[in-house]
Amino acid sequence: MSLEDIQTRIEKSATGAGRDPADVTLIAVSKVQPNQRVEDILKEGHRVFGENRVQEAAGKWPEFRETFENVELHLIGPLQTNKARQAFGLFQSIHSVDRLKLATTIARLAQEEGHCPDIFLQINTGEEPQKAGVLPGEADAFVSECRALDLPVRGLMCIPPVDEEPSLHFALLAKIAERNGLSGLSMGMSGDFESAIALGATHVRVGSAIFGARDYG
Ligand SMILES: *Cc1c(COP(=O)(O)O)cnc(C)c1O
Repeated sequence: MSLEDIQTRIEKSATGAGRDPADVTLIAVSKVQPNQRVEDILKEGHRVFGENRVQEAAGKWPEFRETFENVELHLIGPLQTNKARQAFGLFQSIHSVDRLKLATTIARLAQEEGHCPDIFLQINTGEEPQKAGVLPGEADAFVSECRALDLPVRGLMCIPPVDEEPSLHFALLAKIAERNGLSGLSMGMSGDFESAIALGATHVRVGSAIFGARDYG
């Protein structure tokens, strides 16, 4: 599907929900996609991209940034503390802050570097053992801890279980965000971004619907 089609669908779902489409940021998830495809989207004028690995992002984005100005990069995958410094140099937002140790490391780096990416806290809404994120029952305490560290907490992020109705998870994330006074909601992927927008998503992370299926071969 073309970038334009996705943007149209975003606008329709936002206006349908009585929201301003400008309040929804499309993060084009470029992980694993061939550089040529990414360059095509850059040439169409899109500037907001998501990557889930620091190493992979470090391998392609510095070069793209020499040609294309104002690229905004979002880290949407897990971050190891020993990669946090590198992440600071690459990303404007980190959506995967999911433990105090990482939050503390980011806070220390922010002091040292004099700036900090926008922070989203990942919530494991499905309480899946194999998935990253703090449990819903621990979310309020984690938000407080991150605020006490002076982190710029913009909002919350979730990845619903593959086999469950995503809107239940989007609604839960929105509820946790609301009671904590957080406006940012990073939720919705290729298959479900419209229902995420209906439930308040401010950042949708769309990969394969824009670029085509990822080829891990
Ligand atoms: C890969 C990925 C996406 C994009 O998934 P699609 O189904 O291709 O849109 C969104 N969020 C996260 C965290 C991802 O890792």
